[in-house]
Amino acid sequence: MSEINNGKATILTYSDPPPVNKANQNGKSRYIIVCDHATNVIPEKLKLLSLDKKSLEKHIALDIGALGVAKTISDILDAPLLYTGFSRLVIDVNRSLNSKDSIPEVSDGIVISGNKNLSLSARKQRASELFEPYHEAISSIITERFDFNKMPILIAVHSFTPILQNIKRIWDIGITYDNSTYLAEKIMTLLKIKSDYNIGNNQPYSVNRQSDYTIPIHGDDHSIKNVLFEIRQDHLSDDQGIARWGELLAKILRVIEKQEK
Ligand SMILES: [Zn+2]
Repeated sequence: MSEINNGKATILTYSDPPPVNKANQNGKSRYIIVCDHATNVIPEKLKLLSLDKKSLEKHIALDIGALGVAKTISDILDAPLLYTGFSRLVIDVNRSLNSKDSIPEVSDGIVISGNKNLSLSARKQRASELFEPYHEAISSIITERFDFNKMPILIAVHSFTPILQNIKRIWDIGITYDNSTYLAEKIMTLLKIKSDYNIGNNQPYSVNRQSDYTIPIHGDDHSIKNVLFEIRQDHLSDDQGIARWGELLAKILRVIEKQEK
């Protein structure tokens, strides 16, 4: 394992993926697609955070199917896509750095031993190598595309587990938001026309600054229209399901993009 940063101890080595991945960077769409919980990769040096491989396949490590949906939307709309290179268990890019869930010690009942008793410097290292590059990349693309006549629109793609703490979740998709009610309402109206899905209005979660970071900071704070999709993971268990949801959401977003011109 060779270090990336000239002799300075780093978490990431040359065998690890980058902290942020980008696709369709020059896409023509106004939409910018982000996927915060895209993967379950753990940097090699962190030795799987002492978890077994089975735990890393679960929803605690990544949003199952979300990256596939995000890629489908990005491809259909010709929209730039940014997504994380590492698991939310290493550091959750959708939590503020002072949140207790930023580097979770327990997730859905599973103890993350590799996150226990972390020193302040270890926490700072994860923030500077994994969290900050991701958010800097989102900030830069928004800045590049900021145009008062044609503002970017930020779309975050997540997925949620069908059962959490023995409670079944009935919604097929959650349209979640904080300030950006206009876009959310438009999407819900179109989804009702184009599907029979059970749509959660700010369910199973709502977007807020205590439990989210990406949408409040990059969307609401810049007065950019935004929405966070939460798709139930049993819909995304195969490629067909992923394609179906990506196509449906892209279709709806395209209708809205045309109306907004
Ligand atoms: Zn998520």
